[in-house]
Amino acid sequence: VQAFLKKNAFVLFTVGAVIVVLSVGIVLGFALRPYKMSFREVKYFSFPGELLMRMLQMLVLPLLISSLITGMAALDSKASGKMGMRAVIYYMTTTFIAVFIGIIIVLIIHPGKGSKDEFGKQQTIEQVSPADAFLDLIRNMFPPNLVQACTQQVSFTKTAVLAFMMNDTFFNSTNGTQEFMEITREEVIPVPGQVNGVNALGLVVFSMCFGLIIGNMKEQGQLLRDFFDSLNEAIMRLVAIIMYAPVGILFLIAGKIVEMDDLTQMGGQLGMYTITVIIGLLIHAVLILPTLYFVITRQNPFIFIAGLLQALVTALGTSSSSATLPVTFKCLEENNKIDKRITRFVLPVGATINMDGTALYEALAAIFIAQVNNMEMNFGQIITISITATAASIGAAGIPQAGLVTMVIVLTSVGLPTDDITLIIAVDWFLDRLRTTTNVLGDSIGAGIVEFLSRHELRSKDLSSGLFMTLP
Ligand code: ASP
Repeated sequence: VQAFLKKNAFVLFTVGAVIVVLSVGIVLGFALRPYKMSFREVKYFSFPGELLMRMLQMLVLPLLISSLITGMAALDSKASGKMGMRAVIYYMTTTFIAVFIGIIIVLIIHPGKGSKDEFGKQQTIEQVSPADAFLDLIRNMFPPNLVQACTQQVSFTKTAVLAFMMNDTFFNSTNGTQEFMEITREEVIPVPGQVNGVNALGLVVFSMCFGLIIGNMKEQGQLLRDFFDSLNEAIMRLVAIIMYAPVGILFLIAGKIVEMDDLTQMGGQLGMYTITVIIGLLIHAVLILPTLYFVITRQNPFIFIAGLLQALVTALGTSSSSATLPVTFKCLEENNKIDKRITRFVLPVGATINMDGTALYEALAAIFIAQVNNMEMNFGQIITISITATAASIGAAGIPQAGLVTMVIVLTSVGLPTDDITLIIAVDWFLDRLRTTTNVLGDSIGAGIVEFLSRHELRSKDLSSGLFMTLP
């Protein structure tokens, strides 16, 4: 027992800390609720949480870019091709499984039973084809302006309707055929004090190409390789400092509990819907992903997950997989001893495109909305929903409630009224936290699996195109 305690001291410590932080946050939140704090008071109270969020967010951009560039530069193109392939197969498989679970569970439980009398108006909407959704995705992979890509610019086809609904501001571009518009995340979801999105997809594509190129540049590329390697190291040291501030999470959670709406209002369809989403996410996170990990690696998935707890709680507290990225890096590298060549390469991509929780959620929510509208989805429409939910999850940024925005793509692809997103907004802040946690878990287990599958390449000496030799 003593040896076990000694060996796992750090993991046990973080597990303990996480449990304490979570329970204190929840208890404090509920204890303060009767005082009916004003908006301003809640903001003051959650200030430490907001600070933590800002610090994490501050590191995301340099971390994402430097880790991807060094990660790519450290591998030769053959090795990175193989690993990339494995990662993509893992992402696709798990995302499809997630979508499938979402669909099955919502069809079985049928939370949208009954009519929509209690809810708003019906609206017919022009359809966006899955092709439009994919074109958007590809557009965002190539940001016309890199500097802009670092500051929230994301393209959407005909999604202005949602912005209109949520913001009372009309963006005049919902009529066009070819038309597409640029809207900023903040305009769509005005959440004060929350993280700002970046066009991470575009930056990921750029950094991967850039890394690959400088990896192949022999001596000429040395300066750049050293630069990004050392930048990455410096950022990771900053991350290490922030890791000691989990107390911020406590305030994020307590603050949210203080300001949330009365739970008793959540009866009926919305309550059933919430439970359905929770069941779906649990099946994916507690059953499917760990089983997959076990089947492939033959190792205990729950020990692996214990090492990730701090990242999972950060995801729960921040609702943002990109803000959690620094913590995910630390947990995987330090607790779970995942090879840095894998984390640098796989994590930034995973945090950007691999969102199992979001995919599950979007498919489930779309069918729920069909149910409350008494619309039967036929097989073809369900297939369309699975495809667009996958695209929407890839396109969603790792920021709070991004999934709600990209859901417009899913709804319009089968002619469902986007107005009805308002039906689920009330519970989205909560479900967002759960799906973000699932997203982070999916990325991390992916890193574990890709490392296992790439163990031969990682051992082989000639994998590297230079920088590898200098990596720790
Ligand atoms: N908040 C989620 C994330 O950061 C995205 C979503 O809204 O589903 O992973």
